Amino acid sequence: MNHSQKQDQTASRVVIIGAGVAGLTLATLLTQSGVDCVVVERRDRAYIEQRNRAGVVEARGVDMFERWGLAERLLAGPVAQTIDYRVNGVPEVFTIDVEGRQPSRFCTQQMLVNNLLHVLLDEMGGDVRFETTDVVVRNEDGQRPSVSFSDDEGRHEIECDYIVGSDGDRGVSRASIPDGVLTTYHYEFGYAWLAVLVEAPVVGAAIMAPSDHGFVGQLPRGPQRSRYYLQCELSDTAEDWPDERIWKEIRLRLNDDSIQAAEVHEKFFVPLRSVVHAPMRHRNLFLAGDAAHLVPPASAKGMNLALFDVDTLALALVAAVRDGDAEALDTYSDTCLERVWNYQDFALWMTDTMHNAGDPTQHGTFLQMTARARLAQLHASPTAARLHAEYQLGLN
Ligand SMILES: Cc1cc2nc3c(=O)[nH]c(=O)nc-3n(C[C@H](O)[C@H](O)[C@H](O)COP(=O)(O)OP(=O)(O)OC[C@H]3O[C@@H](n4cnc5c(N)ncnc54)[C@H](O)[C@@H]3O)c2cc1C
Repeated sequence: MNHSQKQDQTASRVVIIGAGVAGLTLATLLTQSGVDCVVVERRDRAYIEQRNRAGVVEARGVDMFERWGLAERLLAGPVAQTIDYRVNGVPEVFTIDVEGRQPSRFCTQQMLVNNLLHVLLDEMGGDVRFETTDVVVRNEDGQRPSVSFSDDEGRHEIECDYIVGSDGDRGVSRASIPDGVLTTYHYEFGYAWLAVLVEAPVVGAAIMAPSDHGFVGQLPRGPQRSRYYLQCELSDTAEDWPDERIWKEIRLRLNDDSIQAAEVHEKFFVPLRSVVHAPMRHRNLFLAGDAAHLVPPASAKGMNLALFDVDTLALALVAAVRDGDAEALDTYSDTCLERVWNYQDFALWMTDTMHNAGDPTQHGTFLQMTARARLAQLHASPTAARLHAEYQLGLN
């Protein structure tokens, strides 16, 4: 950054850093509520529109978008009501059903983000600055907060009342908080997932399958595609996993030689870990989504926690800006962290169960048998099934 460069100065009530699912949802809720906000994003729009990650909006998230009157415009895709917990290839379908709750929805993160961009920019005239660099957060006592950044047109500074850091795990927002303010809690599972997007639909229920040869999952990603997840070593690279090996392992782990190879569009590795940074606020900076917490993808809760954070934050910011009532901002971090820890517990349950019930070389045959017993309880005990279904739908 060239500090002698002239900087233009504007103002907004809220500056949101990061146009992922958290930042764009928050900007949409605030813009709809008449709260002035600007989103600052380092990537271009095309990049954000094609980034594919999560696939399910839990029932709580569907309720939330309905409450804000946005569900019809943002959510698309069939209901997500079944999971086939298949041990060594033996199908055992679990139905997610709690009386009085609507089902979760298959809606890829990419589709939700595309719909948010359309509603926010094209319908509401929202303000997203793409391809920004050198984002600097000013959040000191006695000074008006601001966010400055560079783009094609030069250097800009936006003064504001509140800053929201929704720039993911490696963004600048959390990094701007002085050492010693946050406590970081983390847990490493010791293995990774190879995620592959393939040109083959899920037939029947989404599959989560522990096997003696390691975990494999197959989850829908639109009508024609699915995402396979394969447990692998933390040190594995794309060279270790040519397409032929991927299909061989899928057939082996699902115990099904009839599975046909299909085109592989994307391969990447996800180390499985859980992280919480607390509190989720420092002065006028509020952290939301992956900037504040990471859950392993076996739980399918990362995007859903991000939605909970920004739902809570939007209500609190509207109360503060429109009504001068900052009470909900003061409780934002505690409200979100209560859910974060509950979902971390669920993610730990899912991740341990899916992997321990499989390859015994990881944690031994004792934990393999207890994990298989735990899975069997989902089908044998209505009480165990009810709790599992409540987590899958999203705690009320
Ligand atoms: C393989 C995989 C599968 C997953 N599956 C699921 C699932 O099934 N269900 C589920 O709920 N979740 C899932 N998740 C998690 C989910 O994708 C994340 O939790 C979600 O993306 C978090 O949203 P976010 O907006 O907080 O962060 P992000 O989506 O990461 O968005 C952050 C944004 O900030 C921008 N940014 C970063 N740094 C800067 C900067 N310095 N300046 C400006 N902008 C910046 C980034 O470009 C990005 O656009 C999965 C994740 C992975 C990796």
